[in-house]
Amino acid sequence: MKWPLSKKMETFVLKCIIHNDEQLTRYCADHSQLCCSKCVELNHSQCSKVTPISELTNSQPTDLQGLSVELETVMGGIKSLQINQEASVQSLQRTYKEHGAVMIEQLHGNLNTNIDKCCNSSVSTSDKNLKEEMCWSVLSILNEFDSITVKELNEIKDEVISIKGSVTSSIHKCTSLHNDLLQLLEIVQKIGDNKELCLIASIKCKHIIQQALTLLGKSGKVFKVQGKSEHNVRVPSDSVSCDISGICVLPDGQVLVADWTNKNVKLLNQQYQVVSHLDVNARPFDICLITPSEVAVTVNASNIHEVQFITVNQGKLVPGRKFQLQHECRGIDHHQGDLFVISSEELYKYTLNGKQVCSLYRSFDGTVWKCAVSPTGDRLYIISYWQNKLLTLARDGTLLATYTVPALVGPHGLHVTPAGQVLVCGYHSDTVQQVGWEGQSKLATLATKRHGVWGPFSVCYSSTTSSIIVGQWWGDNILVFRVE
Ligand SMILES: [Zn+2]
Ligand SMILES: [Zn+2]
Repeated sequence: MKWPLSKKMETFVLKCIIHNDEQLTRYCADHSQLCCSKCVELNHSQCSKVTPISELTNSQPTDLQGLSVELETVMGGIKSLQINQEASVQSLQRTYKEHGAVMIEQLHGNLNTNIDKCCNSSVSTSDKNLKEEMCWSVLSILNEFDSITVKELNEIKDEVISIKGSVTSSIHKCTSLHNDLLQLLEIVQKIGDNKELCLIASIKCKHIIQQALTLLGKSGKVFKVQGKSEHNVRVPSDSVSCDISGICVLPDGQVLVADWTNKNVKLLNQQYQVVSHLDVNARPFDICLITPSEVAVTVNASNIHEVQFITVNQGKLVPGRKFQLQHECRGIDHHQGDLFVISSEELYKYTLNGKQVCSLYRSFDGTVWKCAVSPTGDRLYIISYWQNKLLTLARDGTLLATYTVPALVGPHGLHVTPAGQVLVCGYHSDTVQQVGWEGQSKLATLATKRHGVWGPFSVCYSSTTSSIIVGQWWGDNILVFRVE
C-alpha cells in the first residue's frame, strides 16, 4: 500500500473513457463531465462552462478521504448484492425441481386411486373388462399428464432459464463494477498530492459511485417531466369506460394494462395502440413482469382469487398457467423468482409455481392494496389507501419506515424503477409523485390535475422510452409523461 501511484495507474486516471488514446484536460460544468479535446470538439462545443482542469484545482474541493469511505461502502453493497443474486439462482432451480416432483407425485396419486377403484369394483366385472378399463384410465391419466403438466413444466422451465440469464448478467455487471471500484480505491489511497490528478480522480470516483448506487437501486435522481401524450386504450368489446388498475412495460417497449371493470388485459404496441386483448376470469387488479415476454396478473372476485400468467407472443396475448390463492389478492410484484402478492391486509411471498413461502407483513387497517419490490429485492414497499401511507419493509418483512407523503391522498398506484426511484400516485389528490428510495422523503410532484391527471389508478416507468405511464379510473386514456 505504501508504493506510490504507478505510471500505468496515472495513465488510467488521466485517460478519457470514450476516447481511449486521449487525455482528459477539461471539465464541462453543464454536463458535469470530464472531457478530452475530442469530447469538447464533438459534444461540448456549444456548452457555456468548459474549463481547463488546471484552473479548477483551487476552486473544486477533492475530499478523497470521504470518497474512499464511500467507495468502500458501495463495494460492500455490491458484494452482498452478488451473494443474494447467487442465492436467487439456487432457489429458482430448487423451485423447478420441486415442481417436477410435485407433478409426478400427483400423477402417482391419480394412477393409484384409479387402480384401487378398479380393484374394488372387480366383483361385478369380468377380469378382461377390468384389465381393459384399467388400461384406458391409466392411458387417459398419462395423456392428461403429457398435455397439461408438461406444458406447465415447460412454462416454468422457460421462466427459470430467462430469469437465471438476467441474474447472471447482473452478477457480471457487479463483478466488473466491483473491479473498477477497487482500482479507483487503490488509486485514491496512493495518489499523493498532484492537484490535477486528485481532481480528476475525485470526479471519476463520484461518477462511479453514482453508477454503483444506480445498480444497487439507490439512485436519488429526480425525474423531470419533458412532455405529455394521451392514448386511448378502449376496445370495441369494452362495455364501459376503462379503469386501468395495473400497468407493466416489457423491455421491448410494449405495454400491458389491466382493465378492472372490463375484466381484461390489453397489449399496447410501442406507439401505445391496443393490438391484442385477453379476457380474464374476474377483475384484474395488478400486473407484473416475470420475463421479457411474460407477465403475471392478480384476478380477484368474492369467490375467485388467482394469479394468471400471460405470455406475449408476436403481438398476441396467450393465457398460460394459473394458480389459486387461499386469500383475496390485490397487488403483485416479482423479483428473481419470488412473487409478492398482497391482500387488503397481508403481504405474502410465493414461488413461481404457486407455493406460499411465508407471510411477510400484516397490516391491521385492512387497506394495503399495492406492493412493489426494489430492484435488488432488499426492500418492499406497500401503500395504504385510506391512511395515505407508504410503508417500507426489509427483505424479511421488518418494517423500516412509515411515511405519510405530503399532499398525497388515496395512494393507489405504486412502482419502483430499475434504478430504485419510487413512484406513487394519489387517486383523490390527482397527483403523481416521486419518493426517495428510503421511503422517507418526497422528492418531487411530477404531475397534477393541471397536467390532465384525473383519478390516477396505476403508474409505471418505461426505461425503453424514458417515460412514466399513468392509468386512470373511469378514463379510456392513459397518460404518457416523457421524463429525463
Ligand atoms: Zn474524450
Ligand atoms: Zn458539455
